[in-house]
Amino acid sequence: MISFEYRTPKTLTEVHQELKQFGADAKLIAGGTALVIMMKQRLVRPTCLVSLRAVRGLSGLAQKDGGVKIGGLTTHREVETSSLVRRQIPLLAETYRHVATIRVRNMATVGGGLAHADPNQDPPPALIALGATLKATSVDGSRTIPLESFFTDYYETVLKPDEIITEIFVPRLPPNSGAAFLKFLPRTADDYATVSAAAVVTLDKARKGFADVRIGLGSLGTTPIRAREAEEILRGQPVKAEAMREAAERAKQLVDPISDFRGSAAYKREMAGVFVRRALEAALARLPKKAKAKVSRRPSRRKKK
Ligand SMILES: Cc1cc2nc3c(=O)[nH]c(=O)nc-3n(C[C@H](O)[C@H](O)[C@H](O)COP(=O)(O)OP(=O)(O)OC[C@H]3O[C@@H](n4cnc5c(N)ncnc54)[C@H](O)[C@@H]3O)c2cc1C
Repeated sequence: MISFEYRTPKTLTEVHQELKQFGADAKLIAGGTALVIMMKQRLVRPTCLVSLRAVRGLSGLAQKDGGVKIGGLTTHREVETSSLVRRQIPLLAETYRHVATIRVRNMATVGGGLAHADPNQDPPPALIALGATLKATSVDGSRTIPLESFFTDYYETVLKPDEIITEIFVPRLPPNSGAAFLKFLPRTADDYATVSAAAVVTLDKARKGFADVRIGLGSLGTTPIRAREAEEILRGQPVKAEAMREAAERAKQLVDPISDFRGSAAYKREMAGVFVRRALEAALARLPKKAKAKVSRRPSRRKKK
């Protein structure tokens, strides 16, 4: 049995003070779905748990500056069922619905999930593709961190021990955009992904070419990643199947998966290509009607940049 102190602050200021006092020996606990398992396995041994359950003002969703603001203590289930999210950024609701089971989603929080930083989690690739940012605060103030630069290694992030995630901001898609998240689950429906891919595509005004593309990948390395070099292949190019295949091939070279019981590294690398291509196709298929692009099957020379 590990003994630890248990603190129940009521305000964010009190949370900051507890974290300052205990430093790296303290751990925040939100839904507890990840931390309790880590503690049972003796992977973490905090001397103080700071519960967020009673802290006011940390949960809920609201419209803000052309996007949606999500409190750090908001549960996965609240994101999944939010009418605001479903209306404005449906991809987000769909992605959170992929996480585990309703029981887990009712407990797990958005901030806790991101701070946990398991590279197999579902929300990070979609949040990276959507261009989301998070707000971390401490006694020293606050900072905004893009999701794509938040994760540093297995279960590691840029968060300092005295920082708490108070908010996640997800911008709405620009006009002429479509988005998709695909989770490859060959075992059971509540499993972690073998490979996951999210794509956000924005077409140009003529709706014939890619004005912008963002691709996020999960379960394919020590952290979720943004496949920038694959995006580059498409940006500014006509919407053609051949270019998407080329981008998918490039994505395979950007990943560094490990072999485990969900598949060998070679298999996951191959699936990375397949799922990037499918995610791009799915994102195009979800463009608002008048922006829907016709994908040309005819090979063509790519525009020189
Ligand atoms: C059975 C099971 C199946 C799962 N399947 C999936 C799946 O299919 N896909 C998927 O994506 N995930 C899955 N998960 C992982 C799940 O998403 C995480 O356990 C959950 O998101 C963690 O959130 P939490 O609020 O419970 O965090 P906690 O367990 O409370 O905390 C996790 C970590 O985050 C820190 N923390 C908590 N809140 C904050 C905050 N606001 N700011 C800074 N640090 C904070 C804690 O100190 C701790 O280090 C599964 C989990 C379980 C138990």
